[in-house]
Amino acid sequence: MPSDRTCRNCRVPLQTDDVAIYLKLVSRSAKDFLCIDCLGVQLECGREPIERLIQYYRDSGMCVLFR
Ligand SMILES: [Zn+2]
Repeated sequence: MPSDRTCRNCRVPLQTDDVAIYLKLVSRSAKDFLCIDCLGVQLECGREPIERLIQYYRDSGMCVLFR
């Protein structure tokens, strides 16, 4: 996955996990992405549940996006 992606809202550089969770939660075919903070705002849940989800998918090893 390209490493030069930035949040379309605040322009911070995105980690692979940020992109992966966006693909997972919002759209598999997304072309631009939000960082965890902005995604938390958009989903009105804050970043903490999203970070927990990332950890969950990583630990479970079940999602191809988090390998
Ligand atoms: Zn952002």
